[in-house]
Amino acid sequence: MGRCRRPPREERLAVSITGAPPPHWRQSVMSPPRLCVCVWGGGGGVFVVFRYDPPPRAAANQSAGCGLSGFPRRPLALACPEGVEWGPPPQVMWTGGHMTVPASDMAVPGAVVLLLPLLGAAVAGCGYQSCPPTRPDLLNVHLVPHTHDDVGWLKTVEQYFYGVRNEVQHAGVQYILDSVVAQLAADPSRRFIYAEVAFLARWWRQQDEATRRTVRQLVEQGRLEFVGGGWCMSDEAAAHYSPAIEQLALGRRFLRREFGACGTPRVAWQIDPFGHSRQLAAIFAQMGYDGLFVGRVDYQDKATREQLREMELLWRASTSLPPPAADLFTGILPNVYNPPSGFCWDQLCSDPPVVDEDSEENNVDNIVSTFLQIAASQAEHYRTNHIIMTMGSDFHYENANLWFKNMDKLIAHVNARQANGSRVHVLYSTPSCYLWELYRANLSWSLKMDDFFPYADGPHQFWTGYFTSRPAFKRYERLSNNFLQICSQLEALAGMAAREGPYGPGDSSVLREAVAVAQHHDAVTGTEKQHVADDYARQLAAGWESCQLLVANALASLSGSKENFVFCNALNISICPLTEVASRFTVILYNPLGRHVSWPIRLPVNGASYAVTDPQGQPVPSEVVPISNFTHRLRGDGSNATRELLFQASAPPLGFSTFTVSRMSRGDPRVPPAQTPALTQPQEIQNEHVRVLFDPLTGHLKEIQNLDKSISLPVFQSFYWYNASIGNNETPQASGAYIFRPNSSKPIPVSGSKQVSTYLVKNRLVQEVHQNFSSWCSQVVRLHAGQPYVELEWTVGPIPVADGWGKEIISRFETTLQTDARFYTDSNGRQILERRRDYRPTWNLSQTEPVAGNYYPVNSRIFIKDKKFQLTVLTDRSQGGSSIFDGSLELMVHRRLLYDDNRGVGEPLVELGASKQGLVVRGRHLVLLDTVESAADQHRLLAQELFMAPYTVLAPSGGPSYRRGHPSLQQFSALRRELPPNVHLLTLAPWDASTLLLRLEHQFERGESANSSQPTTVDLLNLFSAFTITSVQEMSLGADLPLNAVSRLVWTPTTGPAQPQPVPKLDPSQVTLQPMEIRTFLATVQYKVPGGGPAGL
Ligand SMILES: [Zn+2]
Repeated sequence: MGRCRRPPREERLAVSITGAPPPHWRQSVMSPPRLCVCVWGGGGGVFVVFRYDPPPRAAANQSAGCGLSGFPRRPLALACPEGVEWGPPPQVMWTGGHMTVPASDMAVPGAVVLLLPLLGAAVAGCGYQSCPPTRPDLLNVHLVPHTHDDVGWLKTVEQYFYGVRNEVQHAGVQYILDSVVAQLAADPSRRFIYAEVAFLARWWRQQDEATRRTVRQLVEQGRLEFVGGGWCMSDEAAAHYSPAIEQLALGRRFLRREFGACGTPRVAWQIDPFGHSRQLAAIFAQMGYDGLFVGRVDYQDKATREQLREMELLWRASTSLPPPAADLFTGILPNVYNPPSGFCWDQLCSDPPVVDEDSEENNVDNIVSTFLQIAASQAEHYRTNHIIMTMGSDFHYENANLWFKNMDKLIAHVNARQANGSRVHVLYSTPSCYLWELYRANLSWSLKMDDFFPYADGPHQFWTGYFTSRPAFKRYERLSNNFLQICSQLEALAGMAAREGPYGPGDSSVLREAVAVAQHHDAVTGTEKQHVADDYARQLAAGWESCQLLVANALASLSGSKENFVFCNALNISICPLTEVASRFTVILYNPLGRHVSWPIRLPVNGASYAVTDPQGQPVPSEVVPISNFTHRLRGDGSNATRELLFQASAPPLGFSTFTVSRMSRGDPRVPPAQTPALTQPQEIQNEHVRVLFDPLTGHLKEIQNLDKSISLPVFQSFYWYNASIGNNETPQASGAYIFRPNSSKPIPVSGSKQVSTYLVKNRLVQEVHQNFSSWCSQVVRLHAGQPYVELEWTVGPIPVADGWGKEIISRFETTLQTDARFYTDSNGRQILERRRDYRPTWNLSQTEPVAGNYYPVNSRIFIKDKKFQLTVLTDRSQGGSSIFDGSLELMVHRRLLYDDNRGVGEPLVELGASKQGLVVRGRHLVLLDTVESAADQHRLLAQELFMAPYTVLAPSGGPSYRRGHPSLQQFSALRRELPPNVHLLTLAPWDASTLLLRLEHQFERGESANSSQPTTVDLLNLFSAFTITSVQEMSLGADLPLNAVSRLVWTPTTGPAQPQPVPKLDPSQVTLQPMEIRTFLATVQYKVPGGGPAGL
């Protein structure tokens, strides 16, 4: 016999009734010897709060004695289950027609307090208080009805929503939501969870007010619970933290707006992503989630955890943030996210339904016995007398009646066995109600510090190919988030003038939603069908278009000049019609960073020489170089420019500089400018910071020198391909979109002759060695004047497959560093994790794939080091990477495969590209050589420049004035002063009419830099020149909750408890950031110029 427990937090469940309560209510509420609140309800959304004296038995349909007649007769929840003693009576107050039951005085669990629409009352009741009663003396099986709705995979987002192309996959999300809502309304004991807001928001727009009211009631009663709550269920390996935060915030904001506090998810729900990252766990913690459930962990990890009963654990997701700020309770689901075998009752399944009538098909005994067996064996792997079963799968519940009808019967028959001594209690539940029971168990949990990568679902089956799959889309996604940030910033800086300007209506929401969709675990991962990948790119392109209108409006307003802005989207292959023909044009460089930047500009031209002037009219050194053969080949006949104009531009923080370019001499376009003659193979290039040496015989890179620190390191770099496995005697597993499996650990050099042909470009601004590895693989090794890193611009493809072999192309660096099997990769572009070859921190690894089993996601950087020196390679997109032998590191840049890997996508990863011959991909690796102590000072800032890169807008010069009588501005900064180098302005975006969303982050980890890892303080009120901040509120990371309103369950690790720090009072003139901290603010602002346009410098 237990006692009903009280909730841990002082929350008031208010029951407000306008007007006089029914007479018998008054009577019974006023004199409760032992009061129990129970809730009844049913169709039509009518729910009534009743008291019981004495407490009722928990059996179903015990409606007698509940007073009012004419109400539906099905109990939704009873405050005290059978066999549980009641606590002391709560204080119930009637004042002026209002009844209040303080939560601390209510018997819990249960006691849901619900809407009383007939009485015109409004009652709050969701969250943990709404959880169904459980049986402390029995094994409680929480059935969680759910559907997993991929935001694109085998079909596009639209096709999934409407149920188009059901021959590809039977799936129609609109019907799922229709059907689930009706089935929930039909029976108040049923529950359901939903995760993907991209679909929910679309469905919501179509619903009439009556349906919306019903759904809101279901949410307020805890019967429909939102989990995860991002726009999609984001990937964790290839998603960068900036868009990962944005997509979660976007979904949560929708839920908050439409459903209030009850719509705010308490549980993160990452049931399908292929491995789990530490940075995303830290993000979930900082958004206020109480726990995380995941479906996929490595098969060896899972087996070990089942044995040790460590399927549920506490994940300490940051080594910089003080615990428990980034602690996240994490539960590994027993069956990925599927129902137990034999219990799948969707129309997509073929398990037998529960037949409980007088029929020769009656199978109740069999079904109940099987269920009890499964429950018992599952319980052996978990620590409490509660277990969870996910009742649903991909796109289930289109006809929700099938699932619910059978689960109703299952619950009734399993629980009926209790009369015969069964110790199992099964109930409709949700992840948060399950989590609540784990919390109430008051245990201490094992602590995890590393992450859940790489993921293997069996021997030789490492899901490490998708770290690289669809490399061009991965770059487009990264670049799109870059542009989204710029678009949002300019929208915030220019105010209304950005949205309603001379170029048409500007809108950042199209790109925001497209970037959010692209974070889905079948989008940026590259594990979708080709037509779906095309559709993701189409959505992004549409987003770019409406953002470019916005950027044009904002730039016109901020600069005071209505230029005919031109956006050249193909500058990476040197195509831009304006600069190719114009004799005079303007280059506007917008800098989204909070610090000044210097940025190389490279534009296709046909003239022989140009004069460039800066915003002050001063000349800027420029050079004209021939367009490389590699670029010629790549762009096909998309352009006829023969040359490229180079100059170094700079721009102030959060602002722009305008450069004017005039052609000085035409030259003969048919005669390219002279190249520096390469008498022999070039031997070195250098600038003031770096020297790069090449092997004169082979043309390969052979040494890098850091001239500032007098460090030199032998570095050999080349391209290789792994021969993709098509399966072998050990296992039929082939390499595919998800899986990486080479058929040999030894990769084959792309340049068969071991010698690469090279040529040299050398001028005042840049020094380059062009290396040709094969007809489909080339690289430019580049040193810009003034830049302390080596840039490797690689161009790979079409990958030849005429020999019948799929190929996975890598760039490999070999050094003499003594690395002791260790290397380092980032987590979502933010934290850095140590990796050890053939090793996992939490279990004894049996390695089956010496290459693929050592691959890790590289979102932004990978490095190796010894005691003194560190070689860091930064990437411009997500890739897979590893260190296969000491002193080496490698990145997979492209892949083309001939077989499907049998994980559902049903297509080999063949990207044909525009030429239909095979996709060509171009990207950059930035290489830094430095001492271990100062490496982070370089790579942190460089990584920031890569994902928030400056953006070039072009215009023919001479546009009219934006505001009559106002001179145009050649240069503008929205900041009064630069941010310190360790602070990054992560988000600046409009929130509503007069409010901006601001996120400032400390971009260093604790201890990685002597100076930059120190706390740093920013004066928010005196930071911006574009507007005046009149008030500031600090929010949780998602920006949907005030920070002081966030209350998370505090879990105890086996290492001992950590108490949350109280939220200090905000002083916006002194905002201190600790290492890795992100602080989020809503700032009410006044623009300097009425109507939006702020003043300039
Ligand atoms: Zn999925």
